[in-house]
Formats: sequence, C-alpha cells, structure tokens
Amino acid sequence: MESLVQDTIKTRVQSVLAKIRAAAEKAGRSASTVRLVAATKTVAIPQIAEGVQAGLFLLGENRVQEALTKIPAFTHGSVQWHFIGQLQRRKVRSVIGVFDLIHSVDSLELAQEIDRRAGDAGHRQDVLLEVNIGNEPTKAGFCPDDVREVVSEIAHLSHIRIKGLMAIPPPTSDPASARPYFRKLAELAKMIDAQQLPSVKMDELSMGMSNDYEVAIEEGATLVRVGSAIFGARHV
Ligand SMILES: *Cc1c(COP(=O)(O)O)cnc(C)c1O
Repeated sequence: MESLVQDTIKTRVQSVLAKIRAAAEKAGRSASTVRLVAATKTVAIPQIAEGVQAGLFLLGENRVQEALTKIPAFTHGSVQWHFIGQLQRRKVRSVIGVFDLIHSVDSLELAQEIDRRAGDAGHRQDVLLEVNIGNEPTKAGFCPDDVREVVSEIAHLSHIRIKGLMAIPPPTSDPASARPYFRKLAELAKMIDAQQLPSVKMDELSMGMSNDYEVAIEEGATLVRVGSAIFGARHV
C-alpha cells in the first residue's frame, strides 16, 4: 500500500470503480450487476464521508458497536449499511432493520434468532449465508456440503429472506489462486437456485476483497467487499 500514500481516498474510489467496470466488461457482464461494498472497519467517519463524496454508497461494517456509532453521522438514505462481520446472537436485536443486508449468517441458530427478532420488529431481514468455501477449521461459515440442506431449513423462516451466498477464500498473495473458490461458490448458488425453494433466490454473490475482487467479478460476484484498496492499510 506504500505507493498509495500520496493518493486521496477519492482517487482510490474512482480507481476501484473503474477496475470493477473493466473486470465486468472483460467477463461480458454489465457493470451495473456488480456493486461495491466499502469495508469501513476501523475507518473514521471523516474518511468514510470522503469516500461517500467520491461515490461510495454501500458501506460494510464488521462490528455492531462500531457501526452504531458511525451510522447516525450519515443522512438516512444517503448510504446503505451492510453487516459483513461475525454476528453474535446477543447482538442481533440491535441490527434488525439497521443493516439492509447481513452478509454473514453462519449458523442455523443465528438465522433463527434473526428471524425471531425481525418478527418482533415487524421486519423482513435480507441475509446472505456465509460459506466456509475452503473448509478451513478456524473460519466461520457453513460447510459447502451442508449449505443446500441449511438453505431449505432457513427458507421456512418467514422473517428472513435469503438473497445469496458470501465467502472469504483461504488467504493467499496470489489472486488467481482464489479463483477456484469463487467458482465453487457460484456453482453452489446455481445448485441452490435449481432447488427452487420458495423465497430463496441466489441473486447475490458476495465475494472478492481488495486483493482479488477483479477475479471474483470474473467468476460472478455481485457484491465485492473492498477496504484497504480504498482507505489504505489498517493499522489496528
Ligand atoms: C475487512 C474485510 C473486507 C475488506 O478487506 P480488504 O482486504 O481490506 O479489502 C472484506 N470482507 C470482510 C468480511 C472484511 O472483514
């Protein structure tokens, strides 16, 4: 990231958006099918605001407490907030209706809690199911082999709507080595769609981060979560 030190957030937002467009076109997709979620964990409000001025609209936060301090700083409706981090069940009540999309539903129990709390609030919460696409022992998410069954269970919950899948492939410095994982997630989504469950449509594939979002777009990403390529390296 050293070479970015001289760049402004505005330049970086424009550069990421241009690369998203180019990657979509290269893959024969319309650029409008890919949305940028700016990952804003640890980023202060003025920097986020600078990004919003430069064209960011979707903001992704990892921690409930941190998000709740930032959200009131932005005019309601001027941006949308997504939750992309691990969500604890006891925090669910404070996120219902606050986040337009929760990317990171990683257990049936969490889905049930979201359904219950959304029901209390008279809300229907959009979610993605997080898949542990590399079967990593320490990573959150459903095992790829379990997802189809889990989807059919969650599909019964009336206050939750499954919009697609999310994954974070095993870390690597070579973006190309993430490709098979992105492809696998896209295939999983196709298989789920083929089940034709009521209220389940795999519209969204949340995959790709600063290092590999272009590859993810080539493999079908509709939401890319980009942090450091916009805001610089995180020091905390
Ligand atoms: C931090 C984070 C990102 C963005 O990571 P960068 O490598 O900084 O782009 C994406 N997704 C999740 C879930 C994150 O926590």
